[in-house]
Amino acid sequence: MASDESGKSRKRRMATLLTQAGRAPFEHFGFVNPPVYRGSTVLFPTVADLEGLRQPYTYGTKGTPTTRALEEAWSEIAGAADTALVPSGLAAIALALLTATKAGAHLLVTDSAYSPTRAFCDGFLARFGVTTEYYDPTIGSDVAGLIREETTAVLMESPGSQSMEIQDVPAIAAAARARGVCVIIDNTWATPLLFPPHERGCDLAIEAGTKYLSGHSDILLGLVSANAKWAKRLRHTFNLFAMGASPDDASLALRGMRTMALRLKEQGRAAFDVAQWLEARPEVARVLHPALPSHPGHALWKRDFSGSSGVFSIILKPTPKQAAEAFVDALELFGIGFSWGGYESLVLPFDCAPYRTATRWAPEGPALRFSIGLEDVADLKEDLEAGFARLRDCLSGPAE
Ligand SMILES: *Cc1c(COP(=O)(O)O)cnc(C)c1O
Repeated sequence: MASDESGKSRKRRMATLLTQAGRAPFEHFGFVNPPVYRGSTVLFPTVADLEGLRQPYTYGTKGTPTTRALEEAWSEIAGAADTALVPSGLAAIALALLTATKAGAHLLVTDSAYSPTRAFCDGFLARFGVTTEYYDPTIGSDVAGLIREETTAVLMESPGSQSMEIQDVPAIAAAARARGVCVIIDNTWATPLLFPPHERGCDLAIEAGTKYLSGHSDILLGLVSANAKWAKRLRHTFNLFAMGASPDDASLALRGMRTMALRLKEQGRAAFDVAQWLEARPEVARVLHPALPSHPGHALWKRDFSGSSGVFSIILKPTPKQAAEAFVDALELFGIGFSWGGYESLVLPFDCAPYRTATRWAPEGPALRFSIGLEDVADLKEDLEAGFARLRDCLSGPAE
């Protein structure tokens, strides 16, 4: 960080931060990037040093200069006091929930959460006497009415996984904080570049680094950032589990971080372009993209976010499953697969109905999620156009 004459560091803007954070070239013979430190054992010069643990690194499970470089960079990016780096986004969700939970606790989790989050709550935390109650993502400040004496955390995810509901994060955070409840957000879609989680009132923020931070579909990584109030508790819980990420993956993520602003900007622009184009298609009933004025959460998105990333969903008009499948199978540039945030476009048919409990998911037709990559948008539209032609062929095919 640059210093002014008083020695205080100047606050850099996000794009600059992404190029500067987590680097100290002259600690590494001038090489621009931090090296990959692999190691389990860390040696101490003397017994006194060992007994006093008087050095920044003491054992591999607690981190290396490479993982620490990414953690420190992410803290700057997220506006956090500390960050813990773990091997996947789901591990980050588990770490955040374990940091803010105890036996007998009650958790409030948005009904629109990433479904493995629900599985962790219902399949693991429940075994330790933790009760999870799912709430309507659009609840806003009425969440106050669900907070009990035993409530220890409220988890948000905005936009919701697949279904894309936007939550009133500041209102929910304020209601939770008034009762001393930990405010957690899964901020993977927006990243701190488009939604500063701690500035908006969250105590712990989860990021699947697998997605936009890595950006290349070649690593799994998770980050939990904490404000000053929760930083110590987070670090303590992290150390108890020793679930650190590998230095090689941290190094790849640091590499991804340097181009993250550019990729996100371009993928956000391209996705919005494709979303608008799809909204005008006769085969499409609705496009679930918060930057579209037709989205029910558009006003909240506009108030709280500084942009949109590359993921959105669509609902087709009532279409036989077979025709919707033919559309997806016909696409050449959209891979069919889980995850997202890489440089390549993806499509995923989905159905939230089986796991929703607080709200009903009953769209008029088949639902598809898109992740837009870095291809030329004109090619993507041609590919979708060909897919729709296949869909129409299916509908007008010979009756059986
Ligand atoms: C992908 C994803 C995760 C999990 O990340 P992994 O690294 O795949 O475990 C968590 N939350 C959200 C919102 C995601 O989309």
